[in-house]
Amino acid sequence: MNALLEAYAEVAGADAVQHLIQLAAPLRGMKVVHVNSTRAGGGVAEILHKLVPLMQALELDTRWETITGDGPFYQCTKAMHNALQGQPAPLSDVLIKAYEDANARTAETLGPVLREADLVFIHDPQPAALIRHVTDRQGKWVWRCHIDASHPQRGVWRYLRGFVADYDASVFSLADFAQRLPHPVYLIPPSIDPLAEKNSELAAWQVLETCQRFEVDPDRPLMLQVSRFDRFKDPLGVIAAYRLARTFMPGLQLVLAGGGADDDPEGEAVLAEVNRAAEGDDDLKVLLLPSDAHATINALQRAAHFVLQKSLREGFGLTVTEAMWKGKPVIGGDTGGIRLQVVNHHTGFLVSTPEGAALRVRYLHQHQELREQMGIKAREFVRQNFLLTRQLRDYLTLMTGLLH
Ligand code: UDP
Repeated sequence: MNALLEAYAEVAGADAVQHLIQLAAPLRGMKVVHVNSTRAGGGVAEILHKLVPLMQALELDTRWETITGDGPFYQCTKAMHNALQGQPAPLSDVLIKAYEDANARTAETLGPVLREADLVFIHDPQPAALIRHVTDRQGKWVWRCHIDASHPQRGVWRYLRGFVADYDASVFSLADFAQRLPHPVYLIPPSIDPLAEKNSELAAWQVLETCQRFEVDPDRPLMLQVSRFDRFKDPLGVIAAYRLARTFMPGLQLVLAGGGADDDPEGEAVLAEVNRAAEGDDDLKVLLLPSDAHATINALQRAAHFVLQKSLREGFGLTVTEAMWKGKPVIGGDTGGIRLQVVNHHTGFLVSTPEGAALRVRYLHQHQELREQMGIKAREFVRQNFLLTRQLRDYLTLMTGLLH
């Protein structure tokens, strides 16, 4: 087994990696190409940085290519992204032309590679139109949508669908996000990378040091929510739950950790509301973290006794997976992808109100042993369902189905 596979076997389990090796064996040597729009920044690039070497380690001849364009191209694809997420974002003819031109130009350079590939994964809308320009395709083409496209703007989706319908299959992250298409539609949920800085093991002193840095007392119980400052994440509801829980757990502390909000006017307003609600309470810390604070988030999730993700609406909720992987049962809002992860009473609790969340905090506080058992179940649930190795297993299964 090569070193990368061994590293994954160590954290994700030898059984998971053995399964990958078995699934990949009949596909060995096949030419696979992933195309997206950037090598840096964003969740898709993050996944591909891990997935491509892992596929190569399994002896699939895997390449990663990107589409590039000019200003109007990115304006167009940004508008498409927003429109797929339901925001009004009309596309002018100029933007559409920039989109189609960039796809035509990229098809010229990548043509030979794409034409002879056994499997082409096109990620998100940016390179979706490549298929129009690559004739004599030898392999199967899959459109992989990472976006919550449950309520797209009709016009934009109709336009994109014109390209997507030509693919052999498409993949969405959750059933709620999927669209009706004239080919097989697969559901492949998101995953986290257990070897990433945010999820790798930490020494106890690293966790302690992070607590000290933020003046959190490691000897008193700690509640945590990691989230952008967004109303749908319900930070004020979390504060209300904390205040209620404190009436029966006087030493309780709360950390709300989130990213910067400079490009999001609503985020700033929510942060201001949260800061106001937190004023004068030394046990309630509102942390504004830089976007690369992975080790800090890792340590906070490990330090927490009670992890909340009290969202009112949620796509998948990667923070839930991250905390569960660290052996924490999660008290999560009864919505979206949180329901896929939090198996009520087993890997955490589903709640709909601050009162419900506070009661679950108290319950977990009073049942220390049960909390630990639920944490073990939570980690195992993530290991089986939401690690990168499982996502790759799903891709390999899909490839097997399409190629045979
Ligand atoms: N995150 C982060 N810094 C923050 C807040 C969140 O790095 O200040 C990360 C978090 O660890 C998770 C992702 O951003 O990996 C958020 O994903 P999720 O699906 O939970 O929510 P979204 O923000 O996509 O709605």
